[in-house]
Amino acid sequence: MEIFDQSDAGTTFFAELLLPVPIPKLFTYRVPVVFNDHVLVGQRVIVQFGDRKILTGIVLAIHQQAPKEYEAKYILELLDNFPVVNNEQLKLFRWIADYYMCTLGEVMTAALPSGLKLSSESVVQIHPAFNLEETTQAFSEKELTLLKRLQQESLSYSDISKLLGTKHLYSILKSLTGKEAIILFEEVREKYRPRTERKIRLTPAYASNEALEKLFEKIGSKPKQEDIVLKYLQHVHMLHDPEINKAGLSRKKLLTEEISESSLNTLIKHGVFEEFEIVVPRFDVSEVAETPIILLSEEQDRAQTEILKSFETHTTALLYGITGSGKTEIYINLIKKALDSNTQVLYLLPEIALTTQIVHRLKKVFGSAMGVYHSKFSDAERVEVWNGILQGTFQFIVGVRSAIFLPFDNLGLIIVDEEHDSSYKQQDPAPRYNARDVAMVMAQTHHAKVLLGSATPSVESFYQAQQGKYGFIRMDKRFGQAQLPKIILADMGQERKSRTIKGEFSSLLLRKIDDTLRQQEQVIIFQNRRGYSPMVNCEDCGWVPKCVNCAVSLTYHQFRNALVCHYCGYKESIPNNCPTCTSTRLKTVGYGTEKLEEELSLTFADASVQRMDLDTTRSKTGYESIIDRFEKGETNILVGTQMVTKGLDFDRVSLVGIFNADRMIHFPDFRSYERAFQLITQVSGRAGRREKQGTVVIQTASPDHPLLQVILRHEHLTFYEEQLSDRQQHHYPPFTRLIEITIKHTDKKVCRTAAEQLAEMLRTNLSQIKILGPGEPAIAKIRNQYLMNVLIKIPRGKPELGTLKHTILSLAARLVQDKQYRSLRVQMDVDPM
Ligand code: ADP
Ligand code: ZN
Ligand code: ZN
Repeated sequence: MEIFDQSDAGTTFFAELLLPVPIPKLFTYRVPVVFNDHVLVGQRVIVQFGDRKILTGIVLAIHQQAPKEYEAKYILELLDNFPVVNNEQLKLFRWIADYYMCTLGEVMTAALPSGLKLSSESVVQIHPAFNLEETTQAFSEKELTLLKRLQQESLSYSDISKLLGTKHLYSILKSLTGKEAIILFEEVREKYRPRTERKIRLTPAYASNEALEKLFEKIGSKPKQEDIVLKYLQHVHMLHDPEINKAGLSRKKLLTEEISESSLNTLIKHGVFEEFEIVVPRFDVSEVAETPIILLSEEQDRAQTEILKSFETHTTALLYGITGSGKTEIYINLIKKALDSNTQVLYLLPEIALTTQIVHRLKKVFGSAMGVYHSKFSDAERVEVWNGILQGTFQFIVGVRSAIFLPFDNLGLIIVDEEHDSSYKQQDPAPRYNARDVAMVMAQTHHAKVLLGSATPSVESFYQAQQGKYGFIRMDKRFGQAQLPKIILADMGQERKSRTIKGEFSSLLLRKIDDTLRQQEQVIIFQNRRGYSPMVNCEDCGWVPKCVNCAVSLTYHQFRNALVCHYCGYKESIPNNCPTCTSTRLKTVGYGTEKLEEELSLTFADASVQRMDLDTTRSKTGYESIIDRFEKGETNILVGTQMVTKGLDFDRVSLVGIFNADRMIHFPDFRSYERAFQLITQVSGRAGRREKQGTVVIQTASPDHPLLQVILRHEHLTFYEEQLSDRQQHHYPPFTRLIEITIKHTDKKVCRTAAEQLAEMLRTNLSQIKILGPGEPAIAKIRNQYLMNVLIKIPRGKPELGTLKHTILSLAARLVQDKQYRSLRVQMDVDPM
């Protein structure tokens, strides 16, 4: 038997690497002998991939098997001294790739913050053997301009693009490489730089009381220098304990004391002080944790006891507690318990619910043990969180969906708040994972517990809880004196008939807004469309401006005075005349948030109206400042998209208006009722969170719609029962699993034929499985790609899910082997949302 001994310097090792490329395999590279003692599974390495690319890879295995088909290239660099990706993560990455039908490379790309991946920027330099003065070759003017500059320095693509004033460099660079005038190479640099702080301390020679006394005698005649030493000693109390000098004092802090910088430099030059640098965390962890004491109410206490009890027998529990029932305090209590038993905790929140409101509330309780992982954070901050977990600084992370990729090694509890939220699902690119579902898989690996929380659970989770697969805990009273709001429907058809309607505002809603403002209370108006109007229309011939790249009409944005596509970003100015009939009668149709903001400001001239949507919150602080103003009462009416539905807790909101409920309800998707129910209930939940009962006005043309009736009467259980029986009847989740295949191609006909062919292949090979389609999705063309969908419905409890997915993938692979389908893209979406 051979002993696997890495210290044997003569042995040649190979490493199986995970690389961030969408190719479904691992790559074998050779370990340079100098790394033999250092290379470990989970470390990052740098390798050359193909002829020109430099990539960061993760070591997945180390062995002595040379690859048979090719000669392995050497690993170029070892980036870490210890693994940055652990076994639990690698196991999870594999599960995600298998379950969501994508490659491990795609999972790695999504998992690692780009600060942990190296950027490889192509750089162009002059060919060493090339001499512009002596060459006999002919060059174009642009080529000459470039070559002259390259004689002085190497340039990146973007530099060259600026220099030549064009983005299309390919032909120029190709021509110059062909003439052997330039070479292209990839420059590697680490993106992540730790934040450092420059500090000052006394050199060892002066770090004692006796030495200091002598020093003061010496510099007594130099008051500026004396001043500095005294100021230093004021901050660093080393007279009793000289050891304290070692930690020093921040140079910046010392300089704020109005001392002379040049005298400080003199003291450094004379060896009295020395400078050094330390790495400091990007997050301020020095904040003192003050622990406000919150006692759980009787109801909360009961819920908590039930949750803990259910964890004895179940991995997952669903906390179904209405809006304002006080779920967050229960989470906080459970997090404390898990941390006390020395396990890590992950608290997941939807992107838009992870506000400063909640972060502050948690920071007060958990202080520096808590890390925040948010997609709006810079890359360096994310690397900081990653490393903080590896080093044990953070035992508790609150974060958005991508936080499931962090290097936990000892999770005890995962909380998924607002578990129904669709932002847990990644739509594009692959892996199209759902963080809630991945959390349950993580829990198995770590032997942890999962708490799902929601006021409007997903139909799937409700079903699992009802079936006893999850623990099921309910809270149906609001915390304290708060009551659920009163819901009233504004009958738009009726108001139209009686001509009481104003634009698309019912007189009822206008009256309620007026009342609310008179009582010095606040209003939230919800409309799930941004921009001014979703459509522009020629009154004479019916012409509607459409996107040139997508099959959608363009949205008019007044602020930018432009027509914009919400799918690809295409923008054009609004024409003066209709391009088909030259009429000037072009009108905007429908209400976006921008138009609502305008009309409300005109109607309620004394009120301050503010809008919260993607357009007003693009900057990192946009969102916070809008919330801040609303919280302080500076804003009276807040108009917004679904951003206003979540995680906000305001005292003085007593009216919520839902501007158009019908569009949500009638969207063609099996989940549209569920979504409408969740949105309407969640946004209603923002009203009346204190003693006084709030009001919700829902504008609708179909007030008798059963969904609205259920919401009106707060009969939520009826909603779930009806949904479940519907879903069962039509074979939708949770009674089946869905895989949606999307086929994309720039040619409509090719797209359709390919989709038909794939559906046919699937039907032949998977005889017992229902295959639907192909059919066109609601938006049949996006970014110049035509789309077709094939839907696969797999009955629950099919044991061979893995084999099935494998068959689907190999059929898709076979399809694209056909020459005519070379540029076809086939996308898998497991459990689409
Ligand atoms: P949910 O998340 O279920 O909608 P929250 O956790 O936001 O509800 O609680 C609603 C309100 O009640 C919040 O303002 C919260 O501060 C308050 N609250 C909840 N539990 C307590 C408690 N035990 N003591 C004091 N205030 C509480
Ligand atoms: Zn026209
Ligand atoms: Zn478009």
